[in-house]
Amino acid sequence: MRVQKLSEEDYRWLPKWLVSDSLPPSSRDPLGLQAGAEKLANRLLPGLTVFTYRIGYFFFLSWALRELNRKEDLRIEERLENLNRLERALVLCETVYHGKDHLKDCKHQGQRSKGHLLNQVEKKRASIPEKILKNQNNTGCYNLYRTPMRSGGFWEDDDEAASQGLIPFRLTNLGEKLANAFSKREYASDLLDWALNGKTAKSIETLAKWCESFCFCTFNRKSEKKAFLTGFLFAEGNNAEVVSDADTRQQTLRTLSNSNLLFAPASNSPEIVVVSAEGTDGDVSDLELLELGGDTSVLLHFYNNSNQKNTEFFIAAAIYEMLGLALNSIWSGLLDFIEVEGRMPLNLWVESVLRKSNSTQFWDSSLWSPEAQSQQSEDQLVGALFANNNKVDNGFMLVLKVLGRDRNRMNLREVLYDTELQALVEEAFPYNSQESVKGILPKIADLLLHRHKQVSQIKGKELWLDKDGDDVMMVDRQEMGLGFHSYRFSKLGSLARDLKLVESDLDHD
Ligand SMILES: [Zn+2]
Ligand SMILES: [Zn+2]
Repeated sequence: MRVQKLSEEDYRWLPKWLVSDSLPPSSRDPLGLQAGAEKLANRLLPGLTVFTYRIGYFFFLSWALRELNRKEDLRIEERLENLNRLERALVLCETVYHGKDHLKDCKHQGQRSKGHLLNQVEKKRASIPEKILKNQNNTGCYNLYRTPMRSGGFWEDDDEAASQGLIPFRLTNLGEKLANAFSKREYASDLLDWALNGKTAKSIETLAKWCESFCFCTFNRKSEKKAFLTGFLFAEGNNAEVVSDADTRQQTLRTLSNSNLLFAPASNSPEIVVVSAEGTDGDVSDLELLELGGDTSVLLHFYNNSNQKNTEFFIAAAIYEMLGLALNSIWSGLLDFIEVEGRMPLNLWVESVLRKSNSTQFWDSSLWSPEAQSQQSEDQLVGALFANNNKVDNGFMLVLKVLGRDRNRMNLREVLYDTELQALVEEAFPYNSQESVKGILPKIADLLLHRHKQVSQIKGKELWLDKDGDDVMMVDRQEMGLGFHSYRFSKLGSLARDLKLVESDLDHD
């Protein structure tokens, strides 16, 4: 599965914790760690992406695909244009339905355009907007949900359709159920008519009335929930890949549920953010559904409680992310240092790190000695790095802490066997070395610079830093955030909230 590339702007409306908690898109990936994170995320929640946060799209898109492929004499480009227009009409309806004070209750692609859409309303009438996203073909729902649709067993590739000028997917039986559910909503057909034929503005009362019948917060009726979960978790009668994706998701949901990370009493551990069910008309159950408190706390939970079953990929991801965070932090510290003069000898960086540090004992101690094991826990070191505190010191401490545990080394070998991070780490921090921590500082810088150069060449991107003899020089500094990559748990939480998922839904009848 591919990650969709987004601009900074598209990124901005994502939930707040995501911005501080997970890394910006791939352009901010100087050491090329994104791909490994993707692989691990696919072992936990395949078929989800950071954009699959609304159940409504599964229903809306299945319906739209069927309706638009029924029209005669259209080229595929025209069908997709109509689909874009339909999406814009939908977002307009949702916008006027929820109104300016409640836009956050019901989020869509193009969320940031909604305030603007409301300002465009004249004399209480509105037309289908020309634009809700910078590049709707990339960041609109069709492109972002194609893969999830396939993985959920709702859509199948249809090459024959493509040759007939149709949108190249066919609905499965389950997909038909989703499409039917949307088309049964009272004003769905009016929305379609308007998007395809309507040139006139509509009153906002009309649009709000339509939307009440198909608002994305409402796709949780019993039969709808069942249709969705049959594909998403149980994959009946589907091909092997779809079955495997569903099994993996099911396992992950069960593991989260067993640890009270998916469903939990309202007053649970402090690291988890409880999000109220605002905007969804709520029959309140005694188990309140949680927006998972960021991928970091989920991964660290399993890392710290590793005795539980079926948690190996959570733990592998936690290890991967901590090592990645540590290396990115060291890299970021080097960037900060070089930036001041634009060019500096590498040995001056090493001197500066050691001079500024108040952990002399740590730097002097031998790599795998007890003195090189920080008193701070992994959680504390991660927290310090998220806050950009002493990036190089804490980065080294975190790496040595993580690698200092035998279990983690094993895990690195067994589960991360195919990631390049492992090779980098083993070269940078050799297990049999007696060297002091400070002794490997220059080597780490060299390895990171080398790695950065390789990664940039493969991606065809400009270098940030480069070596020139004994000097390091700034080429093209980019901003970078320090965090964990997204593992899609919060998106899962958002889907579960939309569905009003309860624990018993995980048991298939
Ligand atoms: Zn809505
Ligand atoms: Zn509201």
